[in-house]
Amino acid sequence: MSVTTEKTASAKSSVKSVPTLVGGKWRVSSSTDFGDVYNPSTGQVIARVPFCDAEETSAIVAAAAVALLGWSATPAVERARVMFKFRDLINEHYEELAALVTREHGKTLPEARAEVQRGLEVVEFACGIPSLLMGDTLPNIAAEVDAETVRHPVGVCVGITPYNFPFMVPLWMFPVALVCGNTFVLKPSEKVPLSSVRLGELLVEAGLPDGVFNIAHGDRRCVDALLTHPQVAAISFVGSTNIAKYIYETGTKNGKRVQAAGGAKNHLIIMPDADLEQSVKALAASAYGCAGQRCMAGSVAVAVGSVGDPLVGGLCDYAGSLRVGPTDGNENVDMGPLIRREHMERVAGYLDIAAGEGAQVALDGRGDFGSDGFLLGPSVVDRAEPGMRVVKEEIFGPVLSVVRAKDLDAALEIGRQCPYGNGASIFTNDGYAARQFKQHFNAGMIGINVGVPAPMAWFPFTGWNQSFFGDLHIQGSESVHFYTRQKMTLTRWFASSAESHHDPVWKTTRS
Ligand code: NAD
Repeated sequence: MSVTTEKTASAKSSVKSVPTLVGGKWRVSSSTDFGDVYNPSTGQVIARVPFCDAEETSAIVAAAAVALLGWSATPAVERARVMFKFRDLINEHYEELAALVTREHGKTLPEARAEVQRGLEVVEFACGIPSLLMGDTLPNIAAEVDAETVRHPVGVCVGITPYNFPFMVPLWMFPVALVCGNTFVLKPSEKVPLSSVRLGELLVEAGLPDGVFNIAHGDRRCVDALLTHPQVAAISFVGSTNIAKYIYETGTKNGKRVQAAGGAKNHLIIMPDADLEQSVKALAASAYGCAGQRCMAGSVAVAVGSVGDPLVGGLCDYAGSLRVGPTDGNENVDMGPLIRREHMERVAGYLDIAAGEGAQVALDGRGDFGSDGFLLGPSVVDRAEPGMRVVKEEIFGPVLSVVRAKDLDAALEIGRQCPYGNGASIFTNDGYAARQFKQHFNAGMIGINVGVPAPMAWFPFTGWNQSFFGDLHIQGSESVHFYTRQKMTLTRWFASSAESHHDPVWKTTRS
């Protein structure tokens, strides 16, 4: 038995299990099946998460369905007022929330604070949603007939979220859904359920009526029960591509509206005229921020023309100087652990795969960091080629592969071979090259001298290709459209001495 396994086994007996939230009540799950929640900085188990079965999950959906009638009839400005209070509470607990994200996820405290901030901004967006719920009218669209559209909630909405942003990704979903008048069931990642539970506590404190927001926990069994439940109207998913595709196909087959954001392989193109020092810093932040566990992390650098050697040299020097270590309660660190030991080993395995395929490991992040945490330092793989696995597959860890290209057209072609389509950035001082890149790169979010072109709350998160399944994206006005459906009304009032025998809508100037 390894040291870590021994620690895990002895810790299990004393750790608390995470509750579900059903109809406003925190409940101990009826499940006898549990998963472990780790502190990735120490490798210790800090909580147990129940895996709800279909019956328990169904009861949680039923609670959301019961609350729907009252909440959807609550004036939109009153729904928004709960969100204003929720926003105040997040501000009040900002540091505590960031520390919790660091504890269960492992990202550094500054990264966790940035995550809290990005999530908070979606709440701020949601506070203003009443003005986006206004409909359209056209009086007298036909003789004495008025037309109007209004937005209605869709019903019970579900959010299924990944481990890499335990606080922000749930907030991409439910604040918007709730102010639009829907009720919600959140199924957070079983690896990081604690931030979601804290969000639920703050919503209850903000005065949200019972049953409007609920939490189920679990794995595929819980997700399948949500995907097929007759009372669920819409599903928002963020996670890996294979699961996103499964969620989209199963959800839509069962008549649900689905938006499913998947994985990514983001390209960073460095032109020979780029500011090398600034570009190296931006590339390192993009590739190694949150230990590379971001769907917008740069993971392939395409070095154009003569920039290859100086770029790789600069990257190795800069990345090699980053301080790697446990993050929980420790601010003197630039990069924290990965989420699980298995994941760390999988990511490190890509260095052997790359070497086996003929690439050069220019910086090897494997090492002893003096901790039982799931630590792996930053790595640079040089002379990678488009067909290699390090270039094709989502690694989701601190490995940056450098591909050399002779010119911008060759770099764009490398991008075209990528099946994903989340983000891509160019580093250059040449406006024309930047314009060509913006116009022709095959991805939905573009950065120009910006390493992580992730949109803030007011703009949609516009993944393309295998990075998104659905029509309406998460965030911004697209999310309001996703969580509402339109109703069109034609109105005519008869004069007391009505003369017309014709339906005016069908009367045209031709007849
Ligand atoms: P994941 O796909 O393993 O899990 C996501 C959710 O799906 C979790 O709640 C999990 O419980 C559930 N799930 C897992 N396996 C399932 C199955 N077989 N059937 C039904 N549900 C299942 O993803 P992860 O490892 O938690 O997160 C990392 C992934 O998320 C990466 O691929 C990353 O790129 C992606 N991601 C994408 C975006 C985006 O906006 N495109 C944002 C963040 C993360």
